[in-house]
Amino acid sequence: MHRITLIPGDGIGPEVALATRRVLEATGVQFDWDIRNVGESQITLHGTPLPEDTLTSVERNRIALKGPITTPKGIGFRSVSVELRKKFDLYVNLRPIKTYPNIPSKYDNVDLVIVRENTEDLYSGVEFMVSPDIAQSVKIFTRKGCERIIRFAFEYAMKNNRKKVTAVHKANIMKCTDGLFLEVANCIAKDYPSIEYEDMIIDAMCMRLVQYPERYDVLVLPNLYGDIVSDLCAGLVGGIGITPGANIGAEISIFEAIHGSAPDIAGKGIANPIALILSGVMMLRQLNEVNAAERIEQAINKILMEGKYLTFDLGGKSTTDEFVAAIIEKIKNMDIIA
Ligand code: NAD
Repeated sequence: MHRITLIPGDGIGPEVALATRRVLEATGVQFDWDIRNVGESQITLHGTPLPEDTLTSVERNRIALKGPITTPKGIGFRSVSVELRKKFDLYVNLRPIKTYPNIPSKYDNVDLVIVRENTEDLYSGVEFMVSPDIAQSVKIFTRKGCERIIRFAFEYAMKNNRKKVTAVHKANIMKCTDGLFLEVANCIAKDYPSIEYEDMIIDAMCMRLVQYPERYDVLVLPNLYGDIVSDLCAGLVGGIGITPGANIGAEISIFEAIHGSAPDIAGKGIANPIALILSGVMMLRQLNEVNAAERIEQAINKILMEGKYLTFDLGGKSTTDEFVAAIIEKIKNMDIIA
């Protein structure tokens, strides 16, 4: 039995969280879900969007599955997702991006992994008005922060049979911050002679990714570039509805899709749950439930290949419930074959 903190989140969050729960449970793996709420709804109850009992639950269980959370634009509380990453020092944001069968996309051979630094950079939250007409945001990089994310990228490449690591930066302009990132990457790369290494300036990287995504394998990036490039890469393979993610620290991991709360489609029962289900698959692998993880992946591949049950963002007409029922059916049939 795995005790997991489940944070359904806002907007489509509760819909895709329920869908994911149903699919994970269909594998026969036993879960004890510790359900916790965060976000705007909690402010009147607890005076904060991130209540203490949620933090305690994540700290105790050490693994959480999280739906997206709405963050007000410009004013209001700061991103709860960013706060969680900082609070638990979840310094890695891992986002595998690959082509799935039958999903409308301009490319058919993308298979890359984004390793995004998750705690520093312009997300440090040091931002202020210098005067009513001048705003300043402070970009912070530390040697320790650069070292651990770059080492994680190379270790990930070694463990997962990946061939190349590309360090992405803008060290030609930001010679201190991005310069430090590049200096550390050049140095750590020498410890991994079997992995091909290159560095690339962020703007050139974006153009190359759009032209030749199949040439890239593991990308390691500072926080802001990683955030933007993740969505760019999701767009290469059919959108954010199918792209999973994990926030990983030394002790605690929080698994979440890269998409947001999608207020435009919330409550309509049409959200694509694949991204959160695949984040759940990443979680199963961390829990050593490899067989269950593989069955879910195979079931999703089969459903996509058949093309009968697709949500609207993938060009289909299925509701979230119909799609989930089809995946569960496949998983159950696989059980019988096994
Ligand atoms: P979004 O990802 O919510 O939506 C962008 C577009 O993609 C919308 O048209 C939406 O309908 C569509 N979309 C997203 N997920 C989908 C899915 N699973 N199935 C089908 N279509 C899907 O991005 P946004 O509109 O910029 O952000 C909305 C809110 O989400 C904001 O408050 C933002 O701060 C928040 N957000 C949270 C997280 C997180 O919690 N990790 C991440 C990103 C954005």
